[in-house]
Amino acid sequence: MPHYTMTRRKVMLTLTAAAASTMLPPVSFAAELAVTNLGKLSVSTLSDGHFDLPNNWFANADADTLAAAGDPVVVGANVWLVRTAKRLVLVDTGSGDVFADSNPNVGKLEALLAAEGISKNDITDIVITHMHADHIGGLMGPDANGFSNAKIHMAEAEWTYWTDPSLAERVPDAMKPLVTIAQAIAVPIKDQVMTYQGETDLGDGLTLIPLPGHTPGHSGLRIASGGKELWIIGDAIISEVLQFKHPEITYGLDIDPQQATKTRKDLLTRLAADGIPLAATHLSYPGMGHVTQDGDGFIFKPLS
Ligand SMILES: [Zn+2]
Repeated sequence: MPHYTMTRRKVMLTLTAAAASTMLPPVSFAAELAVTNLGKLSVSTLSDGHFDLPNNWFANADADTLAAAGDPVVVGANVWLVRTAKRLVLVDTGSGDVFADSNPNVGKLEALLAAEGISKNDITDIVITHMHADHIGGLMGPDANGFSNAKIHMAEAEWTYWTDPSLAERVPDAMKPLVTIAQAIAVPIKDQVMTYQGETDLGDGLTLIPLPGHTPGHSGLRIASGGKELWIIGDAIISEVLQFKHPEITYGLDIDPQQATKTRKDLLTRLAADGIPLAATHLSYPGMGHVTQDGDGFIFKPLS
């Protein structure tokens, strides 16, 4: 089985975008960059911040399990930058300024890219796991918020679902703001968007993989090179403290909780059997590691 390692270093960031909307002075803080090499590719994990989720947003859990998870349940917000020979591929875009007023703990991607010396113009491709605001918020603004040269790849089922003009009328009230945000972002980026049906080769060892349930076209990205593989699985798991051990626990924003559970169990079973590492958006930074099967659940062992 191939050996996977991760190198980590500290960088200093200055947040000015969020400060502009809250009238606060720019904030400087230390952040970490973790880089994993896979053959000819490298994958940097960038933290967009973290979310504090009320523990009653998780369902199908017994009271003791929920209490042990704490309240709120703190989750990460990871974004990935894949470097190939000719392409700079971002996987999701974080929250951008969408939650600048309600959650100043997210929206840090832009500062991290700047710290890496990367202009948003240099990004050639963006793979979107799904169209929730914490994954596409970074595209809100003129010229795809500066990602003006990027092809934006996602499942056709995802694009079709969120861009349906009648969607807002059909969803529960709690979901309506997410529809408004998704549609505000979708209109100006539509000429950059490329959509796909089923498992699709995106070139350079990158494959879009359908992982439906959390949203209709929710997808992962398999990254393979030099005999190594990494699966970025987006929101196929949200809480590491709850859903590895109890994959049957669902999350309030799962559009089809039953399908989300089936996808999570099938996916983790396969990754455990094949010894393939995974990375997921809301795992604690850097959120990359192996799973092993443990009865009806799984144990996550982070790469160090
Ligand atoms: Zn998410």
